[in-house]
Amino acid sequence: KRILVIGGVAAGPKAAARARRCDPGAEITIVEEGSFLSYAGCGMPFYIGGMVEKHEELMATPVGVVRDAAFFRNVKDINVLTGTRAEAIDRKNKTVRVTNLATRETYDLPYDKLVLATGSKPVRPPIPGMDLAGVYTLGNLEEARAVRQAVEQGARRVVIIGGGLIGLELADTLAAKAGITIVELMDHVLSTLLDPELSILVERVLRGKGVQLFLGSRVERIEGDGRGAVARVVTTAGSFDADLVVVAAGVRPRVELAREAGLELGETGAIKVNEYLQTSDPDIYAGGDCVENIHLISGRPVYTPMGSVANRHGRVIGDNVAGGRDTFSGVLGTAILKVFEMNIGRTGLSESEARRLGYHVESFICPAPDRAHFYPGSKPVIIKLVADASTRKLLGAQILGPGDVNKRLDVMVAALSMGATVDQLATFDLAYAPPFSTALDPLTHAANCLRNKLDGRARSINPLEVKKRLAAGEDFVLLDVRTPAEFNEVRLPYPNVVFIPLGKLRERAKELPRDREIIVFCKVSLRGWEAQTILESLGFTNVSFFEGGIAAWP
Ligand code: FAD
Repeated sequence: KRILVIGGVAAGPKAAARARRCDPGAEITIVEEGSFLSYAGCGMPFYIGGMVEKHEELMATPVGVVRDAAFFRNVKDINVLTGTRAEAIDRKNKTVRVTNLATRETYDLPYDKLVLATGSKPVRPPIPGMDLAGVYTLGNLEEARAVRQAVEQGARRVVIIGGGLIGLELADTLAAKAGITIVELMDHVLSTLLDPELSILVERVLRGKGVQLFLGSRVERIEGDGRGAVARVVTTAGSFDADLVVVAAGVRPRVELAREAGLELGETGAIKVNEYLQTSDPDIYAGGDCVENIHLISGRPVYTPMGSVANRHGRVIGDNVAGGRDTFSGVLGTAILKVFEMNIGRTGLSESEARRLGYHVESFICPAPDRAHFYPGSKPVIIKLVADASTRKLLGAQILGPGDVNKRLDVMVAALSMGATVDQLATFDLAYAPPFSTALDPLTHAANCLRNKLDGRARSINPLEVKKRLAAGEDFVLLDVRTPAEFNEVRLPYPNVVFIPLGKLRERAKELPRDREIIVFCKVSLRGWEAQTILESLGFTNVSFFEGGIAAWP
């Protein structure tokens, strides 16, 4: 059997290697137009920042063997053609026309099963100046090497166009070496991953580290120095001098080969595949960044180009081209990244996405220490859970903070994958010892908070909503129930906040008006909720608290 794979980064080599394990007799070939193979694209920001010293480390196995063409040939018995581009698929004759980019020689490679792992390409916005020297995208290892070289050669003013996952990771890894300016078209960073009130917390961290952030700003042009090199970036927010510009404005699936071969594309523009990762031609499989996936919550097609997904696709395809019947059910849009001291994770639907899709949404924002507060190194995490109020099924989670986000995120992935309700999440037997967690894990606590809200016990408001109402000059009492020490340390910047510590609330409740709305808060809003119940027991009827307290104030 001849298995031909186009694309040699994540999905392609994974499919080839798995196919080899399942079918020792198959003739397997990978065609890759670039010069590097099977590298960790996700490691590029860390290589650019110098935490990974050599680019070969991104191409090495955990024991340090570089995965080059010789490795694939000798260890895996897989033939690899680098510097070779697939030009066209002839489905009738089952051949692929390829060109050796060095010699320009063109020839046909036959296949019984074809795998498209052509990945994605960075978006190049149609702005003047994109071709100037010093302007890069970050689509492959060659570009990552060029960006690192530019920094090593003294680029000190870096403008990043795009405040998404890649732009922010790059800002983090380069901030120690260069001044960073990020220009983002949307009103917030990470706008496709997080709800606005959480993006604001990320923006605060970026600004705190000296990153200049221009949101809701459009790049109009990139200007040169008269000698063909970049000099400045002109945006609707102003002009910024630049030695280096990295355009991180998203990626698009590479579907030219598939489209020209008449394979069906999905509504996202990426290649459409079934659960076996077969395209509309049963002998052609596709996976990784070139395909769309089904969202496990919404059931709708989505384009979520991630290395984690590409590798899982590769395994399923490898099985199936070798005669197996493995399936890939879909994705949750799970992502995790680190921006300075903040870990940021998300999975499932954000509140904004769930509302757009028409769900009857309920959500809760809940800060908590990631391990016992008395144990050294305890740090906060902020969890936002999103659920369907009609069915109580979980829809998604966003988790961020300096604490251990990863554990909670992956528990949420498991819960969402199994279709859990918020009540089931609250019963999970999660691990606890003081160095790792709290007796009630922050996730259990968040689930219980959301249950209280769904049951109508806790009346809580999103903090961004409160901020907007304050800005609009709405009339309500903002009641702070923290201790005097906490009050002296940090306050909300509003003059009319009423301060009554929780312990004095029963005694001093008479100072509060009964005819006005009262919104309570504390550090994380646990005492805020207690204050709500105390005031209600004293006959107050219009009391709520805002979620997240000072810890999550946007
Ligand atoms: P690609 O990596 O795009 O590889 C496709 C290959 O196919 C390319 O090498 C291309 O040259 C080749 N090709 C295309 N067309 C042809 C043709 N006609 N002929 C020959 N060869 C062809 N994902 C995560 O999950 N976590 C992360 O933290 C993360 N961080 C990232 C950071 C950066 C800076 C970048 C750029 C991406 C990151 N990703 C991350 C995404 C991840 O790298 C991609 O999802 C993954 O590389 C996709 O693998 P792929 O094999 O589908 O496609």
